[in-house]
Amino acid sequence: MKIFDAHCDVLNKMWSEPGLTFSDDQSLQITYEQLKKTGAKVQLFAIFVPENVPEEVKFQAALEMVDIFYQEIIDRYDDMKVILTKRDLQELKDNEIGAILTLEGADALQGNRVYWTTLYRLGVRSLGLTWNHGNAVADGILEGRGAGITDFGKKIIGDNNRRGIWTDLSHVSIKGFWDAMDIAEFPIASHSNAKKLCGHPRNLNDDQIKALIQKDGIIGVTFVPKFLRDDRKAGIRDILNHVDYLCSLGGEKNIGIGSDFDGIDRGPDGLASYAGYERLINAMLQQFPEELVKGFCFTNFADKLPEKMGLSI
Ligand SMILES: [Zn+2]
Repeated sequence: MKIFDAHCDVLNKMWSEPGLTFSDDQSLQITYEQLKKTGAKVQLFAIFVPENVPEEVKFQAALEMVDIFYQEIIDRYDDMKVILTKRDLQELKDNEIGAILTLEGADALQGNRVYWTTLYRLGVRSLGLTWNHGNAVADGILEGRGAGITDFGKKIIGDNNRRGIWTDLSHVSIKGFWDAMDIAEFPIASHSNAKKLCGHPRNLNDDQIKALIQKDGIIGVTFVPKFLRDDRKAGIRDILNHVDYLCSLGGEKNIGIGSDFDGIDRGPDGLASYAGYERLINAMLQQFPEELVKGFCFTNFADKLPEKMGLSI
């Protein structure tokens, strides 16, 4: 079964540990070989600049991760193809895997809109507004102030709308979420679960989930154990529970997966690395009709990739 995974932190890991290659099975939860053998079709690769990187070199760090994406992933493997437009996705050959560059947290933009345009020109096709704390666009969910979208943030979201870029609301504050929902044409939550089943602040409450469904957004169910279960002892069953719950709110066509591999110390039981997808898919097929499982694993995200993505500046 084809897999569309909306979030991983491989680039950050390779940036933090120079010398790692995308084939290093010992250190990475996602490798080229695992993608090939497990049925990957599209993988999103996040640029994530850690908070301890000094403000004035955050953009430089983002550029270094763009460089790793092209040099170590796209250029090194003939069948890894960068996706810049919807047509690129539709034209992937059977043996090819699409790779989409994303930015997790607008901190790297340093409040500079030209930096966003530059990253877009370099291929970034989804923007997570914040990580957990505040930045020039909005506050993250763990920022005590809880502020919404700034004037600068509104301009950035306007850029996303014009360019057909996903505005990713995982991590953003509650107020930021609702402000963004008012103006973002292509909202998603690339890696978040249901707060009803697991109370972590990073998860989405029912109203947020329903609003995303209503706006035809997608929610990438994530494998982060502390977002799956309050006691963190998560397994594949817990992922199914979150999927089932989102379905109960009417989200059958709005559920995807955003694993967060290489952003987590350990995956849930049975999902230590990308190869574990096989077990997850088999478990999904026991519980849901095949058509729905295809939707969760690939079609829902793929179909909703904006038609005008990447077509204008
Ligand atoms: Zn994240």
